[in-house]
Amino acid sequence: MNEITDRFLIEIGSGGGTVGHIIDIDATGSETNSHLSLGPSAPGEKMCERGYRHHRFQRVPFRTFVEYHEIEKAGIEGNAPEEICSYCWSNTLNALEKEQERADEDVSERIGTVGYRLRWKQKGRARDEWYDIMVRPETTMAELDKLVCRFTTLNDLHLRMYGLEEEYLDSSLNILPDHQYEQAGDRSYARASEMTIADVSDRASLWEGDRLSMAYDFGTPSHYYCIVKDVYESEAVNERLNESNIIASTDTAAITKEKRP
Ligand SMILES: [Zn+2]
Repeated sequence: MNEITDRFLIEIGSGGGTVGHIIDIDATGSETNSHLSLGPSAPGEKMCERGYRHHRFQRVPFRTFVEYHEIEKAGIEGNAPEEICSYCWSNTLNALEKEQERADEDVSERIGTVGYRLRWKQKGRARDEWYDIMVRPETTMAELDKLVCRFTTLNDLHLRMYGLEEEYLDSSLNILPDHQYEQAGDRSYARASEMTIADVSDRASLWEGDRLSMAYDFGTPSHYYCIVKDVYESEAVNERLNESNIIASTDTAAITKEKRP
């Protein structure tokens, strides 16, 4: 929300009346050409067609304006407050909505083709210890599991299962390490070596800020989770996997950084 409120200014004094108009300072339109302008043109683009603009009009950041008028708005959302032009308000809402739709489309096109930096932590001691694992789209969950086992001291004697955010015993991914899959003999589970990061990503729309979890020894309340810290194009993952300070690696993934007590 902060970025949005930095982007918009409220212009006071334009168009007569007492309402402030919204100015998009990121806009690159040449709207000012269609108006008779006096002196230097005013910055940004006004979000409605009413009135005129003047470089001498006062412009204040959206946040300053709403604080001054004690308007209960964290951003441009809901109905227009009476101090701000309602035409500007609804045009801005529409513009933001369209931008969001485009951004969402970009994300959904890239999902399944990108790699991630996953920061793994143990629930309850996230501050003291973490491990960054870089994965490629084709990295299998078995590879990821191998790296996770390195720092968790878990081994094949420990039952463990991978799932989505905050999932503990009710994992919707149902991914088991291969040998446990054999033991479970339940076709609703997936074999870790047959599930790739791209598969998980497709099912979970995995993106920056999302989480995966790994529960182990199902009786204990302890589990690990990771946060998607960065999304990388395939090439960029390769570059990082080729860096010299790799802590441990598999064919397509590696622990690239760690913090240990
Ligand atoms: Zn307006």
